[in-house]
Amino acid sequence: MTVPDPARPAASPSARPRVLVANDDGIFAPGIKALGLALSEWADVVVVAPDVEQSAVGHGITIRRPLRFKHTAAAGFGDIPAYRVDGTPADCVVLGVHLLGRPDLVVSGINIGPNLGEDLTHSGTVAAAIEGLTLGLPSIAFSQFANEAGEYDFGPSAAYASRLAREVCRRGLPPRVLLNVNFPRVSPRGVRVTEVGLHRWEDSVVTRQDPEGRDYHWVAGVSTAHDGHDEQTDYGAVQAGFISVSPVRLDLTARDLIGELTQALPPL
Ligand code: MN
Repeated sequence: MTVPDPARPAASPSARPRVLVANDDGIFAPGIKALGLALSEWADVVVVAPDVEQSAVGHGITIRRPLRFKHTAAAGFGDIPAYRVDGTPADCVVLGVHLLGRPDLVVSGINIGPNLGEDLTHSGTVAAAIEGLTLGLPSIAFSQFANEAGEYDFGPSAAYASRLAREVCRRGLPPRVLLNVNFPRVSPRGVRVTEVGLHRWEDSVVTRQDPEGRDYHWVAGVSTAHDGHDEQTDYGAVQAGFISVSPVRLDLTARDLIGELTQALPPL
């Protein structure tokens, strides 16, 4: 009898790629269901998602309380193993990888609403992909605009997401690079590889009173700036009706400023 080496899990008998699917809208959201089911046509999918919506929580990791990891048949994934976690999107990826084994690919989404430009800094959808990246796994985040009626049909997007994910499974991605994918409001005219552009939100704060007369405050972002129709950028491409695919590197250093900053620092 061969003792399995936990560091090198044996390939699954079917030799199908293993894909971990997470999101930030929660395990009952329609986007993750469409994505998980589409991927299951060619991959062994496991779904690990927050039990409630965790949009805009960024890359939070829960370290000051325990987490629960519960199999959830009611989420409608059929034979696909689906687990809900009372934590953040990044927690879901950490637990999924540790408890279920390393997948060949991590995907997140499909998010209700786009994640463009500066959205990447607070998006829970993108954070799940970043967590996959930090664990050394190829990772993709998927997000979608509502259509003109304010509704979401994730079917066509999930079909394209599945084809793209399959290609990434075959080819891999460079280290520390993820793909951030956004689907447009309209039926796509094509696909553009884009830069992460400008999509700034001004945090407006609404102050009201609770039933006992105490103030409470509600942060409500308002979209204030974007790249218009520059199709080189993620925002511009989806506005022009294209699927936007941005290669995103987790490298935050402004290298061009190192020399100038070195000159400008006050001496000790
Ligand atoms: Mn969301």
